[in-house]
Amino acid sequence: KQASLNNIAYTQHSQQETDLISRRYSLMGELRHTIRERKLSVMLQPKVSLSSGKVVGFESLARWQRDDGSFVPPDEFIAIAEAAGLIIKLDCLIFEKTMEALKTLVDTGYQVPVAFNASSFDLLHPDYFDFISSCLTSFGLPVELLELEVTETQAISDYERIQQCLQRFVALGIKISIDDFGTGYSSLAHISNITAHCIKIDRSFVSKLETDKNSEHVINMILTLGEKFNFSIVAEGIETEYQKQWLSRAGCDIGQGYLFARPMPISDLVPWLVTYNKR
Ligand code: C2E
Ligand code: MG
Ligand code: MG
Ligand code: MG
Repeated sequence: KQASLNNIAYTQHSQQETDLISRRYSLMGELRHTIRERKLSVMLQPKVSLSSGKVVGFESLARWQRDDGSFVPPDEFIAIAEAAGLIIKLDCLIFEKTMEALKTLVDTGYQVPVAFNASSFDLLHPDYFDFISSCLTSFGLPVELLELEVTETQAISDYERIQQCLQRFVALGIKISIDDFGTGYSSLAHISNITAHCIKIDRSFVSKLETDKNSEHVINMILTLGEKFNFSIVAEGIETEYQKQWLSRAGCDIGQGYLFARPMPISDLVPWLVTYNKR
């Protein structure tokens, strides 16, 4: 029998796969509309010093609530935005909202750093840097209070070019954090040269601390890297007192997670800080 395209059957998708594809497709259109209407919002989650308990910063996280009231998880809509070429607009919009949050803090007398998440597509986009720096100028906020988070996987994906982009942000005075660290494939050569002030230990290692000895080894290794190469270390996803105590004893500087606070809307920031500082 002769090979021919006509003889090849179409890929069969299960009903579940078909549903997923059509959900993605409809979310893509809806997201484009939502961004145009500026209807995404941000929630902020505190980062806390594990030794003193003091709040040392916040991370801004994008939120999308659909018209029917349901929330689309960020992992899902960020991936869709990246695939659809919408991520640059999404992240610029989220950055403006993050600046509003920072302004609220600074205007109330809280000089706390705020971090925002950037995708590698943003960093490599010709307009991103100019947008961020002109937005900074128009808000008139201290640049030292800003931190850019990029995942290890994306930072490594196009290492040389991403490094060059990150250096422009550093020159502006913005700090860099490598997010979800431990889940990517950085070589030691890359780590020793990476443009970053901070490394964030991925939640998956923290959440397995009670049950898996290997997580302890990985975290200890990351803490040693931090010490040798002068990165501050943040542990993500701390949910239990045990995890907090273990990390603190191991020498981890900073923690973030539900144990301290869930991400909260801008309007809750100052009231939360007032209550937290009185505890
Ligand atoms: P990420 O930057 O690593 O953010 C941390 C995620 O962990 C957030 O999920 C946060 O809500 C969650 N988290 C914090 N503490 C805990 C905890 O104690 N337990 C558990 N189970 N989870 C915790 P979220 O908000 O769903 O965001 C998921 C990811 O989506 C983020 O991971 C980030 O990579 C991406 N993302 C969020 N907002 C943005 C954005 O504005 N732009 C871009 N490019 N990516 C974003
Ligand atoms: Mg992050
Ligand atoms: Mg992370
Ligand atoms: Mg993540």
